[in-house]
Amino acid sequence: MNQSQSAGQVYLCPMHAEVRQPNPGKCPKCGMDLLPEGTRFAMLRHMSKSPVMIVVMVAIMTAMMYMVFM
Ligand SMILES: [Zn+2]
Repeated sequence: MNQSQSAGQVYLCPMHAEVRQPNPGKCPKCGMDLLPEGTRFAMLRHMSKSPVMIVVMVAIMTAMMYMVFM
């Protein structure tokens, strides 16, 4: 009767792929709220759908590489 907890739902830390829990909570490593599996991929899909985000990330990485080599 209790449908609040869907079977097989796993909660993940967005920063630590190895953190997996069957219940919502906080990551023991960084303290971030765990996200239900699926939300994580929705976030990734959302990020890859935004070309501005990709350009900004590439620009930051290029700037960091210049700083390392100069
Ligand atoms: Zn974490």
